[in-house]
Amino acid sequence: MSKFSDHNFKDQKALIRVDFNVPLDAAYNITDDNRMRATLPTIKKILADGGSAILMSHLGRPKDGPTEKYSLKHLVKHLSDLLGGVTVKFADDCIGTSATELAASLQPGEVLLLENLRFYKQEEKGDEAFAEKLSKLGDVWVNDAFGTAHRAHASTAVIAKYFAKENRFFGFVMEGEVTAAEKVLHKSEKPFMAIIGGAKVSDKILIIENLLERATDIIIGGGMAYTFFKAQGGNIGNSLCEIDRLETAKELLLKAEAKGVCIHLPSDSIIADKFAADANTSSAPSNSIPDGWMGLDIGPNAVEQFTNAIKRSKTILWNGPMGVFEMDKFQHGTKAIATAVAEATALGAFSLVGGGDSVAAVNQFGFADKVSYVSTGGGAMLEYFEGKVLPGIAAVNE
Ligand code: AMP
Repeated sequence: MSKFSDHNFKDQKALIRVDFNVPLDAAYNITDDNRMRATLPTIKKILADGGSAILMSHLGRPKDGPTEKYSLKHLVKHLSDLLGGVTVKFADDCIGTSATELAASLQPGEVLLLENLRFYKQEEKGDEAFAEKLSKLGDVWVNDAFGTAHRAHASTAVIAKYFAKENRFFGFVMEGEVTAAEKVLHKSEKPFMAIIGGAKVSDKILIIENLLERATDIIIGGGMAYTFFKAQGGNIGNSLCEIDRLETAKELLLKAEAKGVCIHLPSDSIIADKFAADANTSSAPSNSIPDGWMGLDIGPNAVEQFTNAIKRSKTILWNGPMGVFEMDKFQHGTKAIATAVAEATALGAFSLVGGGDSVAAVNQFGFADKVSYVSTGGGAMLEYFEGKVLPGIAAVNE
């Protein structure tokens, strides 16, 4: 791999795998263009060098070939606007004559967007012949789609072998994600606090196991905490519980003890008499929740304990909310944790928020610019935290 920022793309055609999987409304208006904006610096650098950009992406989950709803042509005008009026050409097929001819005639400073890669089943199958055809369109390959880095698809990984090592690059999005994730997992300054929340223990077992090798402290909050309390013999009322994970929870606690990792469970909870925004609420110790009630957020003592521990940390990884933050009555814990992470960051900690709902939470509460890094790649970042090798990263590096 060569370093993207050090390379001069003058007179080169850069084939860039972007993540333009943006939501569209019924009239094909883009309702959230963050993914497009994220990759603009990568495209602009190539154009500024005097190169040209050939963009390829998937959009949605088309089942049977070309579908109007999933056509990337709906993005052309907006992409041109985002690029300050640069003309964006469009190939109505990502391989074949039109793509080949448009790519061949592309001039420095120009942009070509290819039609949805997933109109071909070969994309998700990682088909070699399909990847080779795509590879012929560009002189170099730039992977800037972190959101699909955990997939070994034709354009995200298989294609790499058709480019010499020095012609494979991470774009700025990928570079940012990989650098932040590596800093947390492999170069963390201690104390390293991992905050894991969300609904299910079963979704987070691999992450917790990987973090037991690296973190000094792990906060376990959200619905998943109650399986741990139950495993320790507590009464959790109607709180979320995965009965088939009680042994796993016990084992994780034992492993943490053996490794000297401090596990922080919420000592108290905000409890509700039903899972609803208008439920009656109270608070209770998390291991003695009355029958008929359920824990839907961490309580005031837990907030205080967690806040103190977070503020002592030098590296923070946060995945998953502390409660049902979508409902006003149960969002205080998650908001308080976001505040603590922001304060620790202001004190010099490196903080990464990644994976699904915790990203939604920091955005919703307005904390996105108060943490060090907010990951854009949900599933990809989760697999990275689990310690897996992501095909889209390995393909550029190998
Ligand atoms: P996940 O996708 O596993 O990170 O879980 C996120 C979801 O967990 C959110 O929709 C939250 O509303 C939900 N959640 C968090 N805490 C609780 C809880 N105590 N009980 C039920 N659901 C919860």
